[in-house]
Amino acid sequence: MSDCLFCKIAEGQIPAKIAYENDKVIAFYDITPQAPIHLLVIPRKHIPSARDLSPEDMQEILPSIFEAIQRLSEDLGFKEKGYRIVNNCGVDGGQSVDHLHFHVLGGRQLQWPPG
Ligand code: AMP
Ligand code: ZN
Repeated sequence: MSDCLFCKIAEGQIPAKIAYENDKVIAFYDITPQAPIHLLVIPRKHIPSARDLSPEDMQEILPSIFEAIQRLSEDLGFKEKGYRIVNNCGVDGGQSVDHLHFHVLGGRQLQWPPG
C-alpha cells in the first residue's frame, strides 16, 4: 500500500535495521525499543491487522511469521531465556501502525499484566 509506513520499510523506501527477511516476511528493530531486544516481524503483504487475516493468510503468512521468530531467537541468542510475542489489534489493542506486525521482546524479565 503506497501510504503505509511498514510497506515502505518492506520495500526499502524507508530505512530500518533489518534482522531477517525472506519472500514472505521481514523483521526489523523497533525504533523505540521497550526491551533490550525489540523486533517487529511483518508480512510483506499489506494486511491492516490480525482481524483482517483471511483463511489463506492464516495458512500462508502466519507460519512464516512464527518460523522467522524462532529463527531470530536462535540466531540472536534469546531462545533459551525466552521472549514475548505481542500483537496489538485495533484501537483498544493499542495498534498505532495499521500494517500487521508482531512485536518480539526479550533480553530482560518482562512484567505482566500489560497496562
Ligand atoms: P503498535 O503500537 O503495536 O502499532 O506498534 C508500532 C510500533 O512501530 C511501535 O513500537 C513503534 O515504535 C514502531 N515504529 C514506528 N515507526 C517505526 C520505524 N520507522 N521503524 C521501526 N519501528 C517503528
Ligand atoms: Zn502496509
